[in-house]
Amino acid sequence: MAAKIIDGKLIASQITEEIKKELKLHNNVKPGLALILVGNNPASEIYVKMKEKKCAELGYQSIVNRLSEKITEAELLAHIRTYNNNSKIHGILIQLPLPKHINEMNVLEAVDYKKDVDGFHPVNAGRLMIGEQCFTPCTPAGIHELLKRYRVDTSGKNAVVIGRSNIVGKPIANILLQKSKGANCTVTVTHSATENITEFTKKADIIIAAIGQPEFLKGTMVKKGVVIIDVGINRVDDPDTPKGYKVVGDVDYINCAKKASMITPVPGGVGPMTIAMLMKNTLDSALKKIYN
Ligand code: NDP
Repeated sequence: MAAKIIDGKLIASQITEEIKKELKLHNNVKPGLALILVGNNPASEIYVKMKEKKCAELGYQSIVNRLSEKITEAELLAHIRTYNNNSKIHGILIQLPLPKHINEMNVLEAVDYKKDVDGFHPVNAGRLMIGEQCFTPCTPAGIHELLKRYRVDTSGKNAVVIGRSNIVGKPIANILLQKSKGANCTVTVTHSATENITEFTKKADIIIAAIGQPEFLKGTMVKKGVVIIDVGINRVDDPDTPKGYKVVGDVDYINCAKKASMITPVPGGVGPMTIAMLMKNTLDSALKKIYN
């Protein structure tokens, strides 16, 4: 039987509609999001524009602060402090990566953790680990939402996460480990030093692939019936397309879909969920649902 497609675009649009309804219920609330972009990274420009567009669609106030590549760390921290102290701003997002001369951790830590809608502040990372209410990083939060809304049977299942980044791998592993809905898994985290990854992936009921290697997970590496969430976004050359490239995930979709019970496509899987969850986190911040 063909794998069921987990449609992230559809779920993201449902979440957008839910946000609109909640905004109507609280019609005096105007969530405010500050987006800080340092330098001219073309991919970062695209991501920031997408977030800005979504804010406009929902009627949020967004401020995009485009800063020079040459800005000093102290100057950047001063910008962050301004937003920390601005009561109309409920979320602050630092678009990563930052230029090499800036210490990323110092910057993420400078954001008021109560406005940290990206969930990268150590307070939020720590609270996520111990299962306390917090801002959860948007991509892992989106994956969790997909698992819940597609009613994936997660409790007691073997979940294998490939990749251990602070943005995706570690937080999704922590989420899946919690004793809660759409989680309660037995979690294994694999990475570039893992010997014989197939040994783990073959036993997995759920695989989260967040590696950054085009089509890394092959059909031969998974068992029948597995649920596969592909986080990867990789550009690969494709002379047959007008742009000369195509976007593929970290999963060999065609061959894995033959064995999986459910799978996310790329594009249209995890990607749209990330922005939807950012909007949700920003609304929750404006409504003081996470922290008072
Ligand atoms: P990182 O580069 O930060 O982390 C990649 C992880 O994969 C590392 O832990 C690395 O191991 C591991 N890894 C790399 N090569 C291998 C390998 N051959 N075998 C096993 N593990 C390996 O990436 P991110 O987590 O930020 O992103 C992962 C992917 O997800 C990328 O394609 C990115 O574009 C995409 N992404 C998509 C988002 C979305 O909205 N859909 C959001 C964020 C990311 P080690 O730690 O040992 O180096």
